[in-house]
Amino acid sequence: MIKKSVYLDNAATTYVAGEVLQAMLPYFTTEFGNASSVHSFGRSAEKALATAREQIAKTINARPEEIYFTSGATESNNWILRSAIQNHPSKRIIISATEHPSILDTCDMLAKQGYKIDYVKVDRDGVINVADLISKLARPAAIVSIMTANNEVGTIQYLNTIANLCHERGVLFHTDATQAISRVFIDVNEMKIDALSMSAHKIYGPKGIGALYIKSGVKVNKFIRGGHQERNLRAGTVNVPGVVGFGVAAAIAMRDSTINNSRIKSLRDYMINQIETRIPDVHLNGHRHQRLANNVNFSFRGVEGESLLTLLDFAGIAASTGSACTSATLGRSHVLTAMGVMDELINGSIRFSLGRATTKADIDYVVGELEKSVKKLRSISAI
Ligand code: PMP
Repeated sequence: MIKKSVYLDNAATTYVAGEVLQAMLPYFTTEFGNASSVHSFGRSAEKALATAREQIAKTINARPEEIYFTSGATESNNWILRSAIQNHPSKRIIISATEHPSILDTCDMLAKQGYKIDYVKVDRDGVINVADLISKLARPAAIVSIMTANNEVGTIQYLNTIANLCHERGVLFHTDATQAISRVFIDVNEMKIDALSMSAHKIYGPKGIGALYIKSGVKVNKFIRGGHQERNLRAGTVNVPGVVGFGVAAAIAMRDSTINNSRIKSLRDYMINQIETRIPDVHLNGHRHQRLANNVNFSFRGVEGESLLTLLDFAGIAASTGSACTSATLGRSHVLTAMGVMDELINGSIRFSLGRATTKADIDYVVGELEKSVKKLRSISAI
């Protein structure tokens, strides 16, 4: 019997789309030039970077010159926070407690250096408490950073409202849109977003490449020192094949976003419905409607999430507890904790993230295995 394999961890990373890989290949072989070189090889690489910058800018309605290539959203998040705090007299940063570790850990470091970090409250669904944000904005802050959509529970923030509040008070607004690109409508101009982070490998592009959008006129400091790449702000030879792949991945993601999102969303709703009908004592984490099209996150009462994950893995199913970045540490989900979810439910939480390759047959298989595994683990814990 061929072992079935179902990948439902697309929020951790996606495969590289065929068209993306094909577009990248020449930049490893015949078009291998350094984009900073002045000869024809270099010019060809530089031209490829310009095309990709345009493709990526289009996903958020930015201008190509506002896109800076980085090694991924982690670096972009580090860069914007450190830069904002150095360029503003206020020693305060406002974030939410449900941010990605690349924001939280950077803020922890800044706190040790004497900066003040204020955490805006979220409600039970992970939605930012606007009244709390307003009260925190009453005092000067260097930057507000709130993610567009959460990587663990999929909750999408009311970004327009948040960005407007910051804009009205002249506070820099950054959003980590890593999970949201092509899944949530973003127009940085219309929505008054000053800075935004993204990563290619969440949208069927390669790993190790991402970008920071910085609105024209916003002052940022040089982040990596060395050569003059990325308009003298982020030194180092640019990863040309990665950037090309990122550009094509972004273009495809936008081209197919309507069709992909509506198909994946109906699979998501089918999965949520199946789990709630077939498995007793479950709790959906995150907002039921204001949520990423590909995110399903459930707590199974009386079940250890890690044990459930292992049983699912035996059945060829790849899912995750918490986010990939934190699950290896077996820590309690900081996101569910901030949302006020009870410990017992936090321990039994699992994230399934659907993708372009997910089918209804996959969902039926996963729900069947889930039903069996939860029953088994509950019977053991009852003993
Ligand atoms: N922010 C969010 C919301 C993410 O989901 C991730 C990836 N898990 C990152 C930032 C970091 O992205 P990368 O690992 O590509 O730097």
